[in-house]
Amino acid sequence: MSLDDLYREVILDHYRHPRRRGALEHPDAHADGQNPLCGDEIAIDLAFDGDRIADVRIRGRGCSISQASASMMAEAITGKTIADAKDLMHRFKAMMDIEPGEAGLDAARPGAALGDLEALQGVRRFPVRIKCADLPWATLAQALEGHPPA
Ligand code: ZN
Repeated sequence: MSLDDLYREVILDHYRHPRRRGALEHPDAHADGQNPLCGDEIAIDLAFDGDRIADVRIRGRGCSISQASASMMAEAITGKTIADAKDLMHRFKAMMDIEPGEAGLDAARPGAALGDLEALQGVRRFPVRIKCADLPWATLAQALEGHPPA
């Protein structure tokens, strides 16, 4: 099995069996995001425990890249501090060439492993789909605005 095939399997698995799907009854933060280029929609609910993201729920519809990326993100940020989640966001965007920086695993920062999200790096070859992969992260950035309170 080639790496491309493996990545495709990981993406399809998240698309068919999205993790942390649903809504929170009393979310501490919420954001809705759309990618009009593709018709993707994502809604994110977050619950905080101090500076930690205690619970994440995602709803959405759209292409396999956007929905798989949302599922991977939800899994990756659950239980992380807000600072680690933002760090992960920057690493993901660096991997996707959305912003400059260093992608991937930094041994000094155990919270920084991208895990399944690495399966999305092949999407870089399809610039029009990068917005699909980034939609959950752009929506998360909105939800985290003002958190933690200064
Ligand atoms: Zn899409």
